[in-house]
Amino acid sequence: MKFGFSVKGGEFMGDCIFCKIVAGEIPSKKIYEDDKVLAFYDISPEAPVHFLVVPKEHIVSANDITEENCSIVSHIFLVINKIVRDLNISENGYRIVNNCGTDGGQTVNHIHFHVLGARELKWPPG
Ligand code: AMP
Ligand code: ZN
Repeated sequence: MKFGFSVKGGEFMGDCIFCKIVAGEIPSKKIYEDDKVLAFYDISPEAPVHFLVVPKEHIVSANDITEENCSIVSHIFLVINKIVRDLNISENGYRIVNNCGTDGGQTVNHIHFHVLGARELKWPPG
């Protein structure tokens, strides 16, 4: 097992749920994986389709996106584009959500993008 100690980010954080899912130490219902990202179904779905896409690298939140690591964000959007077509929700539409920090409602401090679909979603969020 690898441990990272950087506050802002690093390869692996020993106490992070999503790092443990990436490492296979906590099971998940995987949808897609490559060398940079993992997509898996949310354990507590808010829509008929609700999955998360996370970078394998531990990045805490949107606040920690930098010139050096920002390419992961476009990669995640490309991966989402592929998955939503595979799951047949691309035509009806879907929502991509990133919660950042306390006021944003972030509960897991490893950046992730929610993708919700297969039902009509209300706006604005609460
Ligand atoms: P957020 O509130 O934006 O930080 O989202 C965290 C999400 O992670 C929530 O929707 C949780 O349901 C989800 N979650 C927490 N633990 C797990 C897990 N072990 N497997 C899948 N999803 C999880
Ligand atoms: Zn992590």
